[in-house]
Parts: sequence; C-alpha cells; structure tokens
Amino acid sequence: MYEVDTSTPVLVTGATGYVAGWIVKRLLEAGVTVHAAVRDPSNTKKYQHLDEIAASAPGTIKYFKADLLDEGAYAAAMAGCSIVFHTASPFVIEVKDPQRELVDPAKLGTRNVLAQAGGTPSVKRVVVTSSCAAVYGDNADLATTAGGVFTEDDWNTTSSLTHNPYSYSKTEAEKEAWKIADSQRQWELVTINPSLVMGPGLNPDATSESFNMIMQMGDGSQKRGAPDVGIGVVDVRDLAEAHLGAAYIPGVTGRHIISGHDTNLLEMAATLLPKYGNDYPIPRRALPKWLMWLVAPMVAPGISRRIVSRNFGYPWKGDNSKSIRVLGMKYRPLADTMNDFFQQMVDNGRFSNG
Ligand code: NAP
Repeated sequence: MYEVDTSTPVLVTGATGYVAGWIVKRLLEAGVTVHAAVRDPSNTKKYQHLDEIAASAPGTIKYFKADLLDEGAYAAAMAGCSIVFHTASPFVIEVKDPQRELVDPAKLGTRNVLAQAGGTPSVKRVVVTSSCAAVYGDNADLATTAGGVFTEDDWNTTSSLTHNPYSYSKTEAEKEAWKIADSQRQWELVTINPSLVMGPGLNPDATSESFNMIMQMGDGSQKRGAPDVGIGVVDVRDLAEAHLGAAYIPGVTGRHIISGHDTNLLEMAATLLPKYGNDYPIPRRALPKWLMWLVAPMVAPGISRRIVSRNFGYPWKGDNSKSIRVLGMKYRPLADTMNDFFQQMVDNGRFSNG
C-alpha cells in the first residue's frame, strides 16, 4: 500500500518508550536510518533492546541526547531527517504536580520538537503520537457526542489539571501541534490517536502505564473484581503499523483514531482466563460502582470520586473507520494482544504469585 523511503533518515523522539520500540523496529527492518532521541544516552540499558534489533536488521540506529524541555535540544537529532515521529510524552497517572510532570513536557515538548521541524528544511511530515485522551475526557462524554461514538471530530473538553490531568496534557499538546502546523507550509502534520495500548513491549523495563494495567490483572490487585469501565484497546504492534502508514502513505493528513476494540476491563481480563485462570487471580467480576466510589480515593491514588462517577458503568465507543480506510489498518484479535502481553509478564517473572 506504500513504500518506505530509505533514502533519508527519520527521527523518533522518546525512542526508549513502549510505543516507540515497535515503531523503531519496523523502521529498522524496512532499512531506514533511525535517529533515536533519548533523554540519557549513558543509560544504555534503556535502549539495549533497540541495539539488538538493529544488529540483525538492514537499517541503522544512531542515538542523540534530547530532553523535551531543553529548547533546541532536537536540532542535531533532526538534521537531514524527512520525517519526525514525536512519541515522547510522559504516560503516568499518579502525579504530584500535574503541570510540571505532565503538561509541561507534553505541551512545551511538542512546541520544542515542532519548532525544530520548522528550522529543519528537510522535514516534510511530522507524525505526533497523540491519544484518544485528546478526543474524550470521561466515558460520560459519549452521551453528548454526535452519533454516540467518538470520532476524529471530537475534542476532550472535560479534562483539566485537577481532573484527568494526563488526558489534559495530551489535549493541550495536540492542540499546540495543530496550532504550529497550521501556521506554516513546510511540513504536514498527521496525528495518531491511540486508545489504551496493550501487547508485549520490546523494552521489558518501559515505564508506560500500560504495564501497570496488565500487571493489575494478574498480581491480585483485582482479585475482588475489575473496575467496570468501558475502554478502547489497540495492540502496540498494530499501532506501529499505523505510525508507518501515517509517515509514508502519500497525502495522509489530520487525526486518526487507532483502536482495535471497544471493550471493558472485565472483558479484557476474560480473554486471559482459559490459559491463566487457574494459576493467577484474574478478575472474574466487575466491582460495583458504589464500592469503587466509596474506596477509590483511599485505595487508588489518581482515581477520584469524580472519575468513578463519570466513567464507571459507562461503555466506550470509538470510530476506527478512518484508520481502516486511510491507513489500511488491520486490527488483531483482543485475545492475542492480551495473552501475548500477559505471557511476557509471566516469562519475565513479574508476578510473584505465579
Ligand atoms: P513510555 O514507555 O513511558 O514512553 C514515554 C517516552 O517519553 C519515554 O521514551 C520517555 O523517556 C519519554 N519522555 C518522557 N519525558 C521526557 C522528557 N522530559 N524528555 C524526553 N523524553 C521524555 O510510554 P508509552 O506508552 O510508550 O507512550 C508513548 C506515547 O504514546 C506518549 O505520547 C503517550 O501519551 C502515547 N499514548 C500511549 C498510550 C498507552 O496506552 N500506552 C495510549 C495513547 C497514547 P525516558 O525513557 O527517558 O523516560
């Protein structure tokens, strides 16, 4: 459906991350020279997995030191690149200072990277890893959405520094990206808006919140039940394909919801029962909303009563038709994603009770 251009290097920001790992792998396998921007190149353990992939792939990887908050930090990494994949952004739910820990790196980081694109004439396309978190804030928002399904026309209007600050950081960052993109004509912006990403990571030590989600399904934290929350899920390997398509398919522009399944936490856990149900405390029922409302602030930092009220007991629906039509997305079955991810935790000895 498209040809990967191997004649010019590309930049991947946040190359040590969970999502970035599979993008870098796909690029290296296609023969691309990847400029990998990392915060701390002296911490080789964080990107050893990428070196191992590069060793047997036709592409080449080169590392560059860059922090999102250091103005001009991406100049050397971006020099000569035709495409920028901007994935770097903190994905954490429990924070003390949401402005400093989430919004600043997300928004100012996007400004920093995209300003550098403007100062780097070789850049023709920028692919920003945004999120469905920039499309909606709470599941309750679905009720006021045209057609009862979230689409690329929707924007998150209900998150703030005090309510779902991660979602707020992604919304502010994507808005900033479109503002900068619309003020120039040198490069095109494509945003990728994934729902919750699941599936095995190439970097077993990645800090992404996705790892906490799968861990909680097997470490006993949900043995009394799973939170009754509707959610969209996409496989991390499918998400890498979406990024490649966004970079190389001619004429692609705009936002793209990348989500394989409209599901919920209990349904996700149920896919694990046939293989792991006897050996691990996989949740088998949904926790009552009233109970969550009562205990959430004590037992789940980051989950306020307002979050419980506006999300628990509500379904989630996302329209992935543009991704299928424009990017040619094919989404793998949810059970494959969940079982491959869980097995990785088992293989890496992440569960003490297994
Ligand atoms: P991750 O594994 O934690 O990756 C985040 C990356 O951002 C890491 O490489 C991290 O570098 C880098 N980073 C954070 N702060 C930085 C800073 N100040 N300067 C430079 N780099 C910084 O999380 P992920 O799940 O792969 O997330 C990647 C992207 O996907 C994010 O934009 C996230 O919002 C988006 N996304 C993720 C999901 C999901 O479910 N996982 C869903 C939708 C969207 P270090 O290794 O140095 O910390």
